[in-house]
Formats: sequence, structure tokens, C-alpha cells
Amino acid sequence: MDDAPRRRVGLLGGTFDPPHLGHLVVAEQVRDALDLDEVRLLVAGDPWMKDGVGAARHRVAMAAGVAADDPHLTVVDREVRRDGATYTAETLSELRTEEPDVEWFFLLGADAATSLPRWHRAEEAVALATFVVVGRPGTELDLGHPLLQDVLRVDTPLIQISSTDIRQRVAEGRSIRYLVPPSVHRYIREHGLYGAAHGG
Ligand code: ATP
Repeated sequence: MDDAPRRRVGLLGGTFDPPHLGHLVVAEQVRDALDLDEVRLLVAGDPWMKDGVGAARHRVAMAAGVAADDPHLTVVDREVRRDGATYTAETLSELRTEEPDVEWFFLLGADAATSLPRWHRAEEAVALATFVVVGRPGTELDLGHPLLQDVLRVDTPLIQISSTDIRQRVAEGRSIRYLVPPSVHRYIREHGLYGAAHGG
């Protein structure tokens, strides 16, 4: 039917190395605030802005474990399955072609929003979805750049957790309980990721 409401789908792009509570709070709070039908965790393959990212199969498996526990979350691994660097504009363009009835929202923390004007094909990307930015501790949000003028701002509780900090804690043998979902905690231990003691 022509007048059927369009499905509203959020994409949270990231390396998820590993997924943590900061990601989940963003996904759920934006979903609720903007009445999205679902949020998809878009796992990056070979992000051109980051070096030394952990193995994609582990990152996808951890994201899938998290999504299995949340009826509104799914995982998109298309960027991982593709060779070489991938760009958000390319992914958005493909998704729009494949699912033309969806209204797309691309979720970003303030740090990612700040770097958006430097993205490859940034202008194209912002035209393909509604970009939604949330605050992130440690990053002053500046939406002054012309490319960011149509970005939506959603207020969420600020969560001072990063994957970098999680990896560092694991490497140092410190606790990450309650900073990551239990399934991620288990996965890191079982696979000895980030220097974790196996089975510990
Ligand atoms: P790393 O520390 O390895 O750089 P990260 O914690 O920033 O990783 P990513 O997977 O790179 O995690 O983040 C994906 C997206 O989620 C980005 O848009 C990022 O801004 C956002 N994000 C991640 N953690 C938070 C957080 N604690 N609060 C708000 N946004 C977040």
C-alpha cells in the first residue's frame, strides 16, 4: 500500500572492538526517542580511520551475541564480508537501493560526528540518511560545519566507556564487568581476546 508508514531503521556504525554499554545505550535511547522500528549494528570491516582493529570475525560474533539479547537489534556484517576499505556513503547507497521503503537514520557519537566532514564522500553520505548525533564524554560537540547543519541531536545519558578503555582494562587484568554485556564478557574470556586469560 502506498500510504503504509515507512519502516524507520537506525544504523550504528562502528568497529565494536568490543561492543560495550555505551553502544547499547546510544542504540536504545535513540530508537526510543525517534520511534525507530529497529537499530542495526553496522560492523566496520577495515576502517580507514583506525589502525590495528581486532579480527572481524570476533567483532561480528560479539555484536551478534549482543543483538541476540535485544529484540530491536540486529547485526549487519556486509562491510566485513567485502574486501578492502568501505565507506558509509557506499553502504547507505546500497541499502537504499535494496530496501527502498525504509527511512534510514545513521547514529553517531560526538567524536564520530566531529570527524564526519573528513569522511570520504561525506556530502553524499549525509544526503542518504538522517544523521543523528549523541553526546560523548570528552568530546565537545560542534555542529558548526555546513555538512552537519541537518544533523539531529538526541540527548542520552552520557556513558564514559570506550572500546579502547575496555581493551586496556582486559590487557591489564582489570574488571570490565558491567561495562560490557555479559555475553561480550564471556566471549572475551573464552577467546582470550585483548590479552585476557583464557577461561578466567
Ligand atoms: P574505540 O575506543 O576502539 O575507538 P569506540 O568505543 O569509539 O571504539 P566504536 O565502535 O568505534 O567504539 O563506536 C561506534 C559508534 O558509537 C561511534 O559513532 C561512536 O561515537 C559511538 N560511541 C561509542 N561509544 C560511545 C559512548 N560511550 N557514548 C556515545 N557514543 C558512543
